[in-house]
Amino acid sequence: MAWDFSTEPEFQAQLDWMRDFVRDEIWPIDTVFEELGQDGFDRAMAPLKERVRERGLWAAHLPPELGGQGFGQVKLGLMHEILGSSPFAPVAFGNQAPDSGNSEVLALAGTDDQKEQWLHPLLAGDLRSAFSMTEPDTAGSDPTLLQTSATEDSGGWVINGRKWFSTNASVADFLIVMAVTDPDAHRYQRASMFIVPVDTPGVRILRDVPTMEHPAERFGAYGGHAEIAYEDVRVPKEALLGARGAGFLIAQQRLGPGRIHHCMRWLGVSRRAFDMLCERALTRYSHGSLLAEKQTVQNWIADSAAQMQAARLMTLHAAWKMDTEGASAARQDIALIKFFGAQVLHDVVDRALQAHGSLGYSTDLPLEQMYRFARAARLYDGPDEVHRQSVARQILRGYEAPADGVPSEHVPTRREAARARFADLLEAVTSND
Ligand SMILES: Cc1cc2nc3c(=O)[nH]c(=O)nc-3n(C[C@H](O)[C@H](O)[C@H](O)COP(=O)(O)OP(=O)(O)OC[C@H]3O[C@@H](n4cnc5c(N)ncnc54)[C@H](O)[C@@H]3O)c2cc1C
Repeated sequence: MAWDFSTEPEFQAQLDWMRDFVRDEIWPIDTVFEELGQDGFDRAMAPLKERVRERGLWAAHLPPELGGQGFGQVKLGLMHEILGSSPFAPVAFGNQAPDSGNSEVLALAGTDDQKEQWLHPLLAGDLRSAFSMTEPDTAGSDPTLLQTSATEDSGGWVINGRKWFSTNASVADFLIVMAVTDPDAHRYQRASMFIVPVDTPGVRILRDVPTMEHPAERFGAYGGHAEIAYEDVRVPKEALLGARGAGFLIAQQRLGPGRIHHCMRWLGVSRRAFDMLCERALTRYSHGSLLAEKQTVQNWIADSAAQMQAARLMTLHAAWKMDTEGASAARQDIALIKFFGAQVLHDVVDRALQAHGSLGYSTDLPLEQMYRFARAARLYDGPDEVHRQSVARQILRGYEAPADGVPSEHVPTRREAARARFADLLEAVTSND
């Protein structure tokens, strides 16, 4: 029977290296990112990316034939748990969102020419990409409602519509755009994906939408969420990515691994916040004792440890299922951790922030930034409610309503059946009385 929680020593050595590398080389960048600006950031990252490549850890999410390491999801999970501790560590390792998910789409659905033109430079870190699906005027949680259209014209396609929250679009070289090509088809076969270079006439990147994460409007910075108008954007027929009408299918295949990678990174953020919580508990003195000696704070520590362990095991289990049975077999597990992991992230960061009082609320610590980050986790890649609904629906498929409407566990009904079954014994007991 195989039931193994150990990490092979060689990979453990890689994890140990990553932990030191991220803490020593990447955490400092967190503190000066805004001052560095995009150019300075790229220059600071370049030598770090080189060291990651030398260590054989670049683009670990993709198979070796595409220039990746082919780690599989479990190893990737253990790795992302470390990389998640900084928003910039995935960049140094060549598997930051949304490029990692987009490279998977290109690997999965791209033609040889598309791979040559877009995937290989994306993997090499020479290009940046964005995924442009959500629209301001339709519910992103139900993409069957998408309105952006792509119509055939002179052997190519013309795209019209408006998108927003296309992460990194204002610094991207190309966009993967989801548009309706077949409005009368089955609701899951109406949309297709297109590769659209950002400098195509008609692509207007209007702004990076100010958010809780970046409340002040800024444009063209890594991590922005762009609003984009597509106005008569003409692309050749070769821009179609995957089969016509296969947009949803490909999006599902993209979002499965993408969601699990988010959950793994959240474990890294949670761990960093948890370490801060414990350190603070041992430092701050109030009302006659350290915070560490107060039961509320002890509960925070114990509850956080339990939640993080649960989220970690659930995430690694979902990863293992993806590796062994494939993404569609792991759908329910992925939906479970998507909303559960987001909750754990929120709770742990919230407790760490609370334990630091006004210092936690200030920008002197990364906790307020983590808190804003945690809030978004409940929305992107599908809001909590949709994942809960999907989990509940899948679970309910394994059940059926009793034909007579009486609960199967109804004790009087079961007792009556048991009395009939044991009638002889019961009669013997009664006659012995
Ligand atoms: C930080 C961030 C980054 C993002 N990056 C990208 C990106 O790169 N590309 C991209 O295309 N999109 C991106 N998005 C958009 C994201 O995927 C959508 O916000 C998300 O899918 C929800 O869509 P919506 O905002 O239109 O909310 P709506 O669909 O309008 O939903 C609003 C609320 O309605 C409720 N609701 C919806 N459906 C149900 C239901 N079935 N049952 C119960 N309640 C329900 C939920 O509470 C939900 O939060 C990003 C969003 C954020 C916050």
